Amino acid sequence: MAIATNLGFPRIGAHRELKRAIEKFWSGKIEGAELLEVCRELRAANWKLQQAAGIEHIPSNDFSMYDQVLDTSAMVGAVPKRYQWSGETVDSSTYFAMARGGKGGKSVAASTEGVSALEMTKWFDTNYHYLVPEFEAHQEFKLSSTKPVDEYLEAKALGIETRPVLLGPVSFLLLGKTWEEQIDPLSLLDRLLPVYEEVLSQLKEAGAEWVQIDEPCLVLDLTEAQRKAFQQTYDRLCKIAGGLKIALATYFGHLRDNLKTAVSLPVAALHIDLVRAPEQLDEVLDQLPAETLLSIGVIDGRNIWKNDFEKSLFLIEKTINRIGSERTLIGPSCSLLHSPVDLDNETDLDVEIKQWLAYAKQKLQEIGVLTQCVNQGNESVANALAENHAAMEARRTSPKVHRQDVKERCASVTESILKRQSPYVDRYKKQVKTLGLPLFPTTTIGSFPQTNEIRKARAAHKKGELSDADYEEFLKTCIARDIKYQEEAGLDVLVHGEAERNDMVEYFGEQLEGFLATQNGWVQSYGSRCVKPPIIFGDICRKGPMTIKWSQYAQSCTNKLMKGMLTGPVTILQWSFVRDDQPRSETCQQIGLAIRDEVQGLEASGIRIIQIDEPAVREGLPLRRTDWDAYLKWAVDCFRLASAGVRDETQIHTHMCYSEFNDIIEAIAALDADVISIETSRSNMELLDAFVQYKYPNEIGPGVYDIHSPRVPTVKWMEDLLEKALDVLEPQQIWVNPDCGLKTRKWEEVEPSLKNMVEAAKSLREKV
Ligand code: GLN
Ligand code: ZN
Repeated sequence: MAIATNLGFPRIGAHRELKRAIEKFWSGKIEGAELLEVCRELRAANWKLQQAAGIEHIPSNDFSMYDQVLDTSAMVGAVPKRYQWSGETVDSSTYFAMARGGKGGKSVAASTEGVSALEMTKWFDTNYHYLVPEFEAHQEFKLSSTKPVDEYLEAKALGIETRPVLLGPVSFLLLGKTWEEQIDPLSLLDRLLPVYEEVLSQLKEAGAEWVQIDEPCLVLDLTEAQRKAFQQTYDRLCKIAGGLKIALATYFGHLRDNLKTAVSLPVAALHIDLVRAPEQLDEVLDQLPAETLLSIGVIDGRNIWKNDFEKSLFLIEKTINRIGSERTLIGPSCSLLHSPVDLDNETDLDVEIKQWLAYAKQKLQEIGVLTQCVNQGNESVANALAENHAAMEARRTSPKVHRQDVKERCASVTESILKRQSPYVDRYKKQVKTLGLPLFPTTTIGSFPQTNEIRKARAAHKKGELSDADYEEFLKTCIARDIKYQEEAGLDVLVHGEAERNDMVEYFGEQLEGFLATQNGWVQSYGSRCVKPPIIFGDICRKGPMTIKWSQYAQSCTNKLMKGMLTGPVTILQWSFVRDDQPRSETCQQIGLAIRDEVQGLEASGIRIIQIDEPAVREGLPLRRTDWDAYLKWAVDCFRLASAGVRDETQIHTHMCYSEFNDIIEAIAALDADVISIETSRSNMELLDAFVQYKYPNEIGPGVYDIHSPRVPTVKWMEDLLEKALDVLEPQQIWVNPDCGLKTRKWEEVEPSLKNMVEAAKSLREKV
């Protein structure tokens, strides 16, 4: 009999209960015991849900109060010295100090006041962020948490047998970084493995039959030495595990050149991602050792679409035919952490589209149905199969999804419409003449503080308590106030302040055809933070102008230049749930065309500078280096499609947040934006190096004001940064701006900071 399996379940709760409880705990509104109780309830509810769906391999220790990688650091005692940890089990104040820095308050030990948090970075190519483990050259490890065993026993006490999940030792080390001396993290493996051996022994003793060890790094580019480390690790762990069976989980991609390594590990079961890489099944089946079980991830753990049962059954049946049902596990591609929790809580969704969706809870049911189908025959799940078939058919043919006009327009895109009329040098001359800006022009990145007043008005408008007209009036007063302030500060290029936007992607999602906003489609982004990405379900086009009204009104309030403000196609794509029935590149092209229409509309309405933000270009990079060029090609083309339809005199800006630019600088240059603003202040202008080495020809605004900090930067500090930029760039290339938008800052911080920034630009003008 095939085994219904799950790899992990969202821990935030169907109504974000975890977020609420943790934030209350941080602010001292509840005690630790109450927080623990909420966590226990969430775990119990999740386990029961999985049991009810017929899942046999139910994960435990997939729960986390903040992040599973941080949990692993705590488990092995990888606590950097600055947290002054006692060396016993990692207590909650040390744990949260590592997560958030010593911010003071009840949950943080007094000794860590003011100490910085662990660095946070993206978990592979998802929008989840993990805390980067830190190691010293002489790092010692010791078992410092009983969490895996505790949670296993907690489930057992509820009568539920679970499969504890651990982040594998090799991935854990590869995901970390070393301080001070640069050492190969894998040189720490011999010291780390005894801790894992101890955990495995404890789990075995507690009665566990299976343990799931996640090694997602097996889908990355690895060196021969790194592949060897997997071999050594699992030779050792499997020996110690004895009767405890290890399911080794890989996900997020094709194993490719690591496939041989993965199948040769002496583990009891291997999990592969057949959503991202269905084509790897044959090769894995060919090479899988005779005893090994194969866990096939056929349900998409990262998206919101209902599974196509026919496609999955094809893969499942192929597997069973080759290795037998006894050796087959059926599950999600990866942990369901990256899916929203429960579609049943979406009461306002379009009823037709809702039929095409599945959140984590529904995905469990799908796993249950597919497993039952192959174990007990089609008849046993006839209704579910018929219903699924109908949903797939409806989605394939629905006029909601398919628009002939959009498809035709995409097909007609040619190279020539991706190009501006003239090359940058010629545009530059025309723009200098018509825009009349001083040297070192000053501007901001777009948003101004999103005050409580703005949030309240937006919420009231959403609920229908504030009429459209009153809301519009309110937004106009915000715009007028932001402009008055910018004029007083002496800025050269003004913005309208983005008060109308809840979020830079959600706002456009609401305005575009083919997008759907959800009520409850929350997924964890990091710690207690969740995001609610819009769903792209169909062909995309503009319903009408999206921002023009605001920019036009803003321009009418001032004689200064007003910059129009848009989000770029790649960023909108990256931060949405995307269609799985066409390539990402095609969806992105459709967004590109819609943004192009808006850009041209802004130009026609008299706006002469337009910024198209693309902070997500770099994070869209594929996991494997060999796939980069293809991605960068279409990503750049989509930006150009959006931006190139204007006259030479219209100045196109783009903006990117903190990024490593070195290895994508060619693509950045290919965007051919007249001006790019980047986040550089915290790196002390080091991020400019990539542009300098490349001899980047267009204009750049290296951020001089760190908007992540409440600190007001002094004139001198910003002047120094600008001098640094001046050392390596031509004066005509340099713009003066903050690192990013100001929406998270307070007016008291923004006002003096921007005044200082303008002063710094003025004093630089006098010097050159
Ligand atoms: N224009 C956006 C803002 O100012 C840019 C935000 C971003 O880069 N993440 O908020
Ligand atoms: Zn930014």
